[in-house]
Amino acid sequence: MPRPIQAHINPNALESNLRVARRAAPSARIMAVIKAEGYGHGLTRVAEALSAADGFALLDIQDAVRLRENGFRQTILLLEGAFNAEDLALVAGHDLACVIHSAWQIALLDAYPGKSSLDVWLKVNSGMNRLGFTPQQAAQAMEQLCRHRAVRSITLMTHFANADEARGIAEPLALFNDFAAPYRVARSLANSAALLRYPETHGDWVRPGLMLYGASPFAEVSAQQLGLQPAMTLRSRIIAVQELRAGDEVGYGALFRAEHPMRIGIVACGYADGYPRHAPSGTPVLVDGQRTQTLGRVSMDMLYADLSRLPQAGVGSSVTLWGEGLPVEEVARAAETVSYELMCALAARVPVVV
Ligand SMILES: *Cc1c(COP(=O)(O)O)cnc(C)c1O
Repeated sequence: MPRPIQAHINPNALESNLRVARRAAPSARIMAVIKAEGYGHGLTRVAEALSAADGFALLDIQDAVRLRENGFRQTILLLEGAFNAEDLALVAGHDLACVIHSAWQIALLDAYPGKSSLDVWLKVNSGMNRLGFTPQQAAQAMEQLCRHRAVRSITLMTHFANADEARGIAEPLALFNDFAAPYRVARSLANSAALLRYPETHGDWVRPGLMLYGASPFAEVSAQQLGLQPAMTLRSRIIAVQELRAGDEVGYGALFRAEHPMRIGIVACGYADGYPRHAPSGTPVLVDGQRTQTLGRVSMDMLYADLSRLPQAGVGSSVTLWGEGLPVEEVARAAETVSYELMCALAARVPVVV
């Protein structure tokens, strides 16, 4: 048999999660965020499953061009915009849209020879302080863009830092709305968390990412409660079993020590597959569909599963690292990270099965 690890991608789950987004934001167009290879699920695969979306947002211009060449006719937005003059030529030539987040990108527009050919999304920094013009700076940028010969259309956008947290969106939303009030252009504000929780942020375009992949953006609400289905299930198998005596230790650094005799399974999945090395003993894992836990330190290609309460499990038993039956959020929480990082980290060496 080949090494048994596989990532199962479920296109029906992606489609179904897109419908959840539509029902939650019925008046907005949906820009599916497919950056980072569709959050690790595979760019083309995801775009095909989400072809009912009104737009796609990503970073890499070659990926954007590839989508166009594959026949996708939707709006395709570059979330970090253009980096140089060649990018702008591709943006115009392939009918892409680009974020303008900094003054240097307006200078790029100034140097661009084309006329009325670019759809730009002006990014307003409403408090996250990552990309975008502060409302004060954005007024001037807006003035430049409104009369810019190269610009065909303008959309105003912002991004929230705390839509998934108790802090919420009230402050940045007020800042953005105050700024946007005088302009009659389309608006886009909401990520998954804002889409699901704050209808007042929906505007003309919502930009869900995480929820489309079937993970919950909220610590206290599960994906299942939101009606979302996991699109990625990472599966492998047990390839060896060790019988431990009391006092035996497990793995690099001997981080786990058996208190009493027990069986452990060696799972063909390690950090080189994208499993978080920092997942401690006790991180949930399914063996033959039964919940158990990891033990010891994750190594490059393998990790350890506790079989003490699973006497029937052994070599060949199926293992679910996350996905169907084990929400990726739970694994992320145990490893003190977020589901985004786990999904994106899926390694290229892991075979994908659809
Ligand atoms: C990644 C991203 C999103 C999607 O966020 P989710 O939390 O995954 O829904 C939306 N907008 C911007 C600007 C982003 O960078």
